[in-house]
Amino acid sequence: MGLRIAERWFEMRRVDDAITLLWEPHVVPLMRCNIWHVRGRDRDLLIDTGMGVASLREAARSLLEKPVTAVATHTHADHIGGHFEFADCLVHRAEAERLSEPRGRGSLRRDAFAADELAMLRRAGYEVAETLITALPHAGYALEDYRIRPARPTRIVEEGSIVDIGDRHFEVLHLPGHSPGSIGLWEAATGTLFSGDAVYDGPLLDELATSNIRDYVATMRRLRELPVTVVHAGHDPSFGRDRLVQLVDRYLKCRDRRIAS
Ligand SMILES: [Zn+2]
Repeated sequence: MGLRIAERWFEMRRVDDAITLLWEPHVVPLMRCNIWHVRGRDRDLLIDTGMGVASLREAARSLLEKPVTAVATHTHADHIGGHFEFADCLVHRAEAERLSEPRGRGSLRRDAFAADELAMLRRAGYEVAETLITALPHAGYALEDYRIRPARPTRIVEEGSIVDIGDRHFEVLHLPGHSPGSIGLWEAATGTLFSGDAVYDGPLLDELATSNIRDYVATMRRLRELPVTVVHAGHDPSFGRDRLVQLVDRYLKCRDRRIAS
């Protein structure tokens, strides 16, 4: 089966003066994460780094003028694949070890998932195609060569930690449920939340091996009370508070029903 060679691996779009969104158009939607570059006075943040199929550092070169901290909203493969390229990596205590573990052979084929995982993903609303990428990053690239390379956690955070980039500072919110060390970065001054996979405008996943439904419910209740202006999530388009409340309520309703039945 022949996949064509991509012209470029990452796309980027300026959101405002300080925030740029990068993404990987040739990764299937399930695994296509939002990579957020936030420019600060003293340093920048890269919130998540994608699959690690091609070099993010290279692709984002024009943005990377300052020291940069690579933030892991959590350590699922689609969010931390590029972390190894960055010397400064921030992660929650509960997933720090996971970030630094070699993961053996990776796979960019559907067989990366067990049959029951595929069934769960289908129930949630994701059809997983035979390959997880729809083009190759360069000629000669073999899907079998994909690896998630270990990164070095240099800043371990927990609930309430402050991430200060000079002219703006973010508070770490511990938002477990999707995974035990899921975090959000909350800027109260602007009502901006980088939410990772705690909430996004698509099918939420709370039955992964790393998930905990009880924690997820508590996280959603917490998010519902947050006075957000905008949520820049781990997947899918950004949204405001009204949509956040809708997504939370839809999740809680669906969970209550499933727990009851
Ligand atoms: Zn995830």
